[in-house]
Amino acid sequence: MSTVERQSWDVVIVGAGGAGLRAAIEARELGLRTAVVCKSLFGKAHTVMAEGGIAAAMGNVNSGDGWQVHFRDTLRGGKFLNHWRMAELHAQEAPDRVWELETWGALFDRTADGRISQRNFGGHEYPRLAHVGDRTGLELIRTLQQRIVALQQEDKRETGDYESRLKVFQECTVTRVLKADGAGPADPVAGVFCYRRESGTFFVIDAPAVVLATGGIGKSFKVTSNSWEYTGDGHALALLAGAPLVNMEFVQFHPTGMVWPPSVKGILVTESVRGDGGVLRNSEGRRFMFDYIPDVFRAQYASDEAEADGWYDDPDHNRRPPELLPRDEVARAINAEVKAGRGSPHGGVFLDISSRLPAAEIVKRLPSMHHQFKQLADVDITAEPMEVGPTCHYVMGGVDVDPDTAAATGVPGLFAAGEVAGGMHGSNRLGGNSLSDLLVFGRRAGLHAARYAAALAGPDRPAAGPAQIDTAADEAVRPFQPPRTEAGGEEAEEPEKPEKPENPYAVHQDLQQVMNDLVGIIRREPEMSRALTHLAELRRRAARAGVEGHRQYNPGWHLALDLRNMLLVSECVALAARERTESRGGHTRDDHPGMDRTWRRVNLLCTLREPGTDGDAEDAEQTEHAGQVRLERRALPAIRADLLALFDDEELAKYLTDEEVKDR
Ligand code: FAD
Repeated sequence: MSTVERQSWDVVIVGAGGAGLRAAIEARELGLRTAVVCKSLFGKAHTVMAEGGIAAAMGNVNSGDGWQVHFRDTLRGGKFLNHWRMAELHAQEAPDRVWELETWGALFDRTADGRISQRNFGGHEYPRLAHVGDRTGLELIRTLQQRIVALQQEDKRETGDYESRLKVFQECTVTRVLKADGAGPADPVAGVFCYRRESGTFFVIDAPAVVLATGGIGKSFKVTSNSWEYTGDGHALALLAGAPLVNMEFVQFHPTGMVWPPSVKGILVTESVRGDGGVLRNSEGRRFMFDYIPDVFRAQYASDEAEADGWYDDPDHNRRPPELLPRDEVARAINAEVKAGRGSPHGGVFLDISSRLPAAEIVKRLPSMHHQFKQLADVDITAEPMEVGPTCHYVMGGVDVDPDTAAATGVPGLFAAGEVAGGMHGSNRLGGNSLSDLLVFGRRAGLHAARYAAALAGPDRPAAGPAQIDTAADEAVRPFQPPRTEAGGEEAEEPEKPEKPENPYAVHQDLQQVMNDLVGIIRREPEMSRALTHLAELRRRAARAGVEGHRQYNPGWHLALDLRNMLLVSECVALAARERTESRGGHTRDDHPGMDRTWRRVNLLCTLREPGTDGDAEDAEQTEHAGQVRLERRALPAIRADLLALFDDEELAKYLTDEEVKDR
């Protein structure tokens, strides 16, 4: 019988970044008792690191902007693989979410006439990113935290307890979503199993609704802008609970990460540098992006430097600079320049703002970048160019959700929002569209999780039995039990003896190398097949990962548990990437270089397959050796006619399948 501590709440939010906090506020405001669990300190989520801003078509700097233009840009950026309904809701609701932040105390930078200022970013037709210098994420989280504290103070006044209706469990990790007993894939959610990172003690939160808001997967890759939290936990939790992931082949490599010194390789250089006038040059001093404008974007981008530079002051009579193409295009261009031998001394290219703006203006607009380069690389960006190169930044793929309610497909009571959810960004996310996504779909997830939980009062609430909890606890302590050799037993000459456990750090390092080298920015079929073989071996090694010491303050143990998630997610990425035989957005195939319109309506879904449940013995064997993930195709819903009418026919003909063009 399980002795794990249990407590009961209505809604559990896993993650306290922008998506999680916005969901929590909504659920609590609807009167539901809401618990937030986060593995970092409260206030230190990945969202804090967001620099450039929040995309919202408020039209403050150019009145030509509106939700339809934002929708159009988002679909172009995602190469028409976005779920159109998510892109529509996002574009329509983002301005209200930004205004709401101001009513809760955020203070954005202003225009000369006092409105919220908006800056240019890649792929956005108009200046659209509301920002606070280059520290927008910090202001966003600070504001949401402040709102949470205000709600807790309200609760204190009414109930005498700050945490009676909204409680944050910080530095706690969720390792399992629990289901109502029956434990079939479609059984409803019943809560979460967690451990406290400091003490290593376990606890369960019983709740009929769980919102996953755990962010991304970058720590599966060697060079990444992502923080330690990004081990794909929510993606894996959803898969293990029976929900599919969609679009996992699409991983965004941001074009500009630091490349030097090695200790900081991958740290982000915000796109605002280019939005504010920064240009990319190769070792020959050439502004090379003019050579890389793809046909689908040629009409919207400047063809020479004079026109590009003219755009900053007169956007109505000039086309945009090609440095502001969507991220996938710029990352590929940098990659090609380096490969052609025209890179910078440390394997990147040059990004120069020093010759474009006065030093004081650079420090004012980009304080964090100025500080970051001075402190970490001894480079003064007001006087010399930066060296930059692609870094793994964002995952477009995620939990397959209903666009309106954020409900995960197939698992009642499970919801997902923010970077962990898929569909919104298609094959490539535009900069600034994540912070707005967090707020729009965080609110929706909180709203619908609250409604769902409210309808399940009293005896109708699903419950997880003790056996499920014991299994979760056994899984969590396994790294402390030294693995044994398989030989032994009565007949064996040698007694059973402990086998040297695998070091979780070594397994993690090897995983990152495999993903970087074989499923990175440019992909090929044989390499991805090799990656899948390596992943199978890494999975076997991870099963033998062992740690010493106790459960208190033991980061090696935490990593050993995270490996399960990173390996699952990496397999999804590699499998889906091998299947998609075209190049689109954040998925570039060297062996299939073009975008293929017949793939436009194909979504690849990853689900978990249990060994031996998939049919015959051969299949079971394959499962063991080849992987835990099954891939299936699903048709993307047709785009509503009035939304298609926002594009001209010539442009649509470049993206839509022949049947779609014919049916118009
Ligand atoms: P996060 O903010 O990462 O929050 C995830 C939460 O989940 C954390 O609290 C974490 O502790 C918790 N968690 C994870 N796993 C578990 C678990 N197992 N148990 C319990 N808790 C768990 N986007 C923009 O739109 N504009 C920008 O300017 C911008 N700049 C960026 C700059 C950088 C350097 C980076 C890396 C990203 C940037 N992005 C930007 C992207 C954007 O910041 C992220 O996509 C977004 O913040 C993700 O928010 P989230 O709420 O989904 O997750």
